[in-house]
Amino acid sequence: MTNIGFVGVGNMGLGMAANLIKAGHAVTAYDLMSETLDKAVAVGCTRAASAGDAVDGSDALVTMLPSGLHVKDVYEKAVWEWARPGMVLMDCSTIDVQTARDVIATATSKQLLMVDAPVSGGTGGASSGTLTFMVGGSDAAFAKAQPILSAMGKAVIHAGGAGAGQAAKICNNMILGATMIATAEAFNLAIKLGLDPQVFYDISSKSSGQSWSMTTYCPVAGPVPAAPSNADYAGGFATALMLKDMKLSQEAASKSNVSTPITAQATALYQALTNLGGGGKDFSAIIKLLDGSFKNS
Ligand code: NAD
Repeated sequence: MTNIGFVGVGNMGLGMAANLIKAGHAVTAYDLMSETLDKAVAVGCTRAASAGDAVDGSDALVTMLPSGLHVKDVYEKAVWEWARPGMVLMDCSTIDVQTARDVIATATSKQLLMVDAPVSGGTGGASSGTLTFMVGGSDAAFAKAQPILSAMGKAVIHAGGAGAGQAAKICNNMILGATMIATAEAFNLAIKLGLDPQVFYDISSKSSGQSWSMTTYCPVAGPVPAAPSNADYAGGFATALMLKDMKLSQEAASKSNVSTPITAQATALYQALTNLGGGGKDFSAIIKLLDGSFKNS
């Protein structure tokens, strides 16, 4: 049993904290929103009065926050003051690579072990404990973080040094974001050319056009019954979150002088869908933007 502090128990953090408790750990949680914190207490967490209170006395810390600015803020205002030597810090938020590296460098200078450990798997994976963790940090930090992350996920992969987890996460989501748009364009054209979408799916899902975007989140309702397209694009992976990850990838590409013309265009399309009010819809709703039928409902 490890005493774990947990800061940020929102859509993802709640299920993750619940799985730490199920695995026998003691979790002291904090969130800015008191109703959100109530839910964490209901699954067995101890209520902390502040982020510092969640860190104080803990042997490990998990943070699951919206962006790099929030992460910087929490570490500067609470963690550095209350963390004690030997503690392992795990930031599971999706943030920019540079902030991840900066925060880990500060932790290292204070003799603290820290990893960036963003996740894939969404809220379903968070509550069922089947997330994939992409971890950046030293071997020593990874060794300490791995057993705790394993209680929340099905795979914990050491991607490399500080920031490597964030790099893997945004590069993976570049592929996801772009293949969804290519898949949506292909379905729109197939339908216009008179193909039955189910027949096109049966062919392409077994041909070289196959991808996760097609076989798990098919943007046309029907072929994949569990895909968000069957529920008017509710649930799934919100367009606003896809846009956030695509923007992080473009920022990193620009800083690294890497050309990404396809994902630059994909970012603009997710921005357009968000501007029309589609930020809360699953990102496969991009098919409705492309065929001109998107309605904000
Ligand atoms: P969320 O907004 O539901 O949760 C974040 C929580 O952090 C909120 O409850 C908020 O009140 C809290 N918070 C913000 N600032 C704080 C502070 N200073 N102190 C304490 N609490 C603070 O977001 P989420 O969907 O849980 O996502 C969390 C992270 O996980 C994001 O970085 C997101 O990109 C990433 N992620 C989300 C998903 C998903 O499907 N939701 C999937 C993969 C990765």
